[in-house]
Amino acid sequence: FANRLARVDVGADSVIAFMLNDGTVMAQSPALVLDKASEANPPKHDAEALFALRSTGGLAPAGVLGDRERYVAVRRLANFPAAIVVGVATGTVNDEVRRAVIPLAIASFVVCAVIVLVTALWSRQLRRDRRQSARQFEQARTDVMTGLANRLCFVEWLEALDKGGGATPYAVYFADLDNFKTINDTLGHDIGDKLLAAVAERLVDNLGSADRIARLGGDEFAFICMGVTDEGNALRIADIVVSAIRQPFLIEGHHLAITSSIGISLCPRDGRDLVSLLKNADLALFKAKADGRGLTRVFSEELASIMATRRELQADLEEAWKLGQFYLV
Ligand code: GH3
Ligand code: MG
Repeated sequence: FANRLARVDVGADSVIAFMLNDGTVMAQSPALVLDKASEANPPKHDAEALFALRSTGGLAPAGVLGDRERYVAVRRLANFPAAIVVGVATGTVNDEVRRAVIPLAIASFVVCAVIVLVTALWSRQLRRDRRQSARQFEQARTDVMTGLANRLCFVEWLEALDKGGGATPYAVYFADLDNFKTINDTLGHDIGDKLLAAVAERLVDNLGSADRIARLGGDEFAFICMGVTDEGNALRIADIVVSAIRQPFLIEGHHLAITSSIGISLCPRDGRDLVSLLKNADLALFKAKADGRGLTRVFSEELASIMATRRELQADLEEAWKLGQFYLV
């Protein structure tokens, strides 16, 4: 047995033993060294402690299997009252663990680094996407030529105010330049564009910072002034705008004089919802144009009925023309 065990390579500082169930050592490699005081014949291991090791995780303190602490495996033989015991020095095990752990640690580090990198790249992409959609959101609501809000944005403002419950009264203004086509026709579209941008600047300079200004398209601008409760108040603001636009513009050496017409509807007096406020401001603007331009009109029921009569008259005339009902007297 001793010869056979000696040929088993269990590693440095390790022990392999063949013992009876009562601990009597039949053979051991390397050979058992006993101090004189505890010498027994034949030598014995603490069998009870060794068999118990299965349940304590296999770490045998110094003295149980040799003079040092060892990880121990005990296997009973099937048909004999004996067992094979292998004890591996903790240092050896730790070295092996270290050898196994270092590549594992490096691999874990690499995996973690890759995860961190991917997460960082992903969140950067996410931030970029978010910035881009914020930019797209902004662009979709901005009028490129003047830098003001556009029609979509203006409608959204009104929708938000409508949903807000209408606690604060406000006025909706439509301002349209008078005979603006003449500028385009006489000086060109380019000058026309510059004049539109200059008008936008005047609006921004003369209205309050809380007032919301938009270009609805063409030469039509719109703004919302919060806290306007009555017609007098609304007209005062319109006067400021009309006078500001009336001041000549200097564009590429041309002194341009232009007037504007304004239509106003008041919330809640002339409507609470977006559709009626827009329709009524537009009607008031139409009246301002019809009354001669350079004027401001505030919506009223009377104005609505005048405009309705006008519309009916126009429709009737068109119908009469189609039916050939005109005749010379
Ligand atoms: P009115 O007094 O009735 O308002 O007449 P108007 O000549 O101002 O004409 P209207 O307001 O009906 O139409 C606006 C004109 O503005 C129509 C078009 O020729 C011109 N226009 C529309 N968009 C632009 C633009 O982006 N740039 C320039 N330069 N002109 C535009
Ligand atoms: Mg116009």
